[in-house]
Amino acid sequence: MRNHNLKIYNTLSRTKEVFQPIDPPYVGLYVCGPTVYSNVHLGNVRTFLAFDVLCRYLHYLGYKVRYVRNITDVGHLESDADEGEDKIAKKARLEQLEPMEIVQRYTNDFHNVLDQMNFLPPSIEPSATGHIVEQIESVKTLISNGLAYEANGSVYFDVSKYNQTQPYGKLSGRVVADLLNETRELDGQAEKRNPLDFAVWKKASPEHIMRWPSPWGVGFPGWHIECTCMSTKYLGKHFDIHGGGMDLKFPHHECEIAQAVGVNGQDPVNYWMHTNMLTVNGEKMSKSKGNSFLPAQLFAGDHPLLQHAFSPMTVRFFMLQAHYRSTLDFSNEALVAARKGYRRLVNGLLVAKKLKYEPSAAAEDGKAKDEVIKLTEAVGAAMDDDLNTAVAIAHLFSLLKSINKIHTGSLPPAALGEEVFTQLTRTFVVFTEDVLGLKEEKPDAVDHLVGSMLELYTEAKVNKAYDKVDQIRARLRTIGITVKDMKTGIEWAYEE
Ligand code: AMP
Ligand code: ZN
Repeated sequence: MRNHNLKIYNTLSRTKEVFQPIDPPYVGLYVCGPTVYSNVHLGNVRTFLAFDVLCRYLHYLGYKVRYVRNITDVGHLESDADEGEDKIAKKARLEQLEPMEIVQRYTNDFHNVLDQMNFLPPSIEPSATGHIVEQIESVKTLISNGLAYEANGSVYFDVSKYNQTQPYGKLSGRVVADLLNETRELDGQAEKRNPLDFAVWKKASPEHIMRWPSPWGVGFPGWHIECTCMSTKYLGKHFDIHGGGMDLKFPHHECEIAQAVGVNGQDPVNYWMHTNMLTVNGEKMSKSKGNSFLPAQLFAGDHPLLQHAFSPMTVRFFMLQAHYRSTLDFSNEALVAARKGYRRLVNGLLVAKKLKYEPSAAAEDGKAKDEVIKLTEAVGAAMDDDLNTAVAIAHLFSLLKSINKIHTGSLPPAALGEEVFTQLTRTFVVFTEDVLGLKEEKPDAVDHLVGSMLELYTEAKVNKAYDKVDQIRARLRTIGITVKDMKTGIEWAYEE
């Protein structure tokens, strides 16, 4: 395990706390995954990216992370007040598809986007529909513990009962009395003893297509109970880190705490982490607001507000330039700047990987050495400081100056000495690639480059420079390409 001083901002204590896993070197991490009823938008990606970087940094520090990120494929209703249609069932109805076709389609999309952006896969990706049995068991336990009640085939969590012994609202800072004042009595809520109660099981109306038998009749689980069951099943009753976007703090995570305490008799999580929102003109990017951008639109430059296409790594770099707890505003200009920054960093990566230590008669340069040591330590310190990727990137750019000086010959490696030289190149490469997950994107340039070679080939033929013609043919053959002199002109094909 590396020496570190990782501090994480814990939403629960509202302070940065030194990270101490329950059972090192193992770390249990649960992140609420997407509700797969539509394509993920860039806002969603931002949240998942923060946890990808957390996971990568924990690996770098030497921890073994069990990273559980679920797929929500049932129970997430249109309204947080347990009203409206199930989002997936609604989409299935509108598109005249099976709900599981909707789930598969958008799970595939989610995976494609995250692969393109170089995300690490989670260790376990459980789905809510795969854990109906566990959810029914938890609901039964809540009822027998007196913390949930059945009403007309649905089961609700009894918030006031829970609040008699436990502080409901401690994560989001809400107070039950205030919440009650704010909550209007909504239609269809009559079954609840108290408007703050939330569904852990819902009766399915006859037209509701996603349904399972239960002791309370045919129905489906409430949204919050899935995460309680899946996190308990795979990480235990008490685990290290739970994350999601800050819009999930209330009610989703608050309800998760109450359910876990109600079922398992203990607080589930040591560190609650919440990411801030990706905004557009200062407003949260969200599908319902109609201001969301899809990753595919960015990668193809297919949006009226975009002047170019932006590659997956440019988008990743753009997001990493902000700390995960700050808002980040999306704009074409910011992406243009990010593209420049990413390319500078990746050019540095190519150089840093090539550089070799060469002893020489050059004298040691104490100042340059100290500067490099200080900066390499600062990169780790920035990540230790609640994963401050923005500051870490700024330090990587400072390190890049020394890398470029070595590359152009103005700083001989011997001036740093072998140890510091290695620390410089290794820190730069490891943090850029492994921790931040920024990799080189090779342009898909085959057509373009072969096209240029064929132009030279045609020119050489016209000039009867047959040596050159043979040379170009031979060169292209080494990469598996044959030149074909057709009646209609010069063409190329794969060598068979
Ligand atoms: P959902 O599929 O709506 O449950 O969202 C999946 C994840 O994306 C959740 O953790 C949300 O908090 C997060 N999220 C949604 N909108 C944004 C946004 N504009 N910026 C950052 N994260 C978001
Ligand atoms: Zn969740």
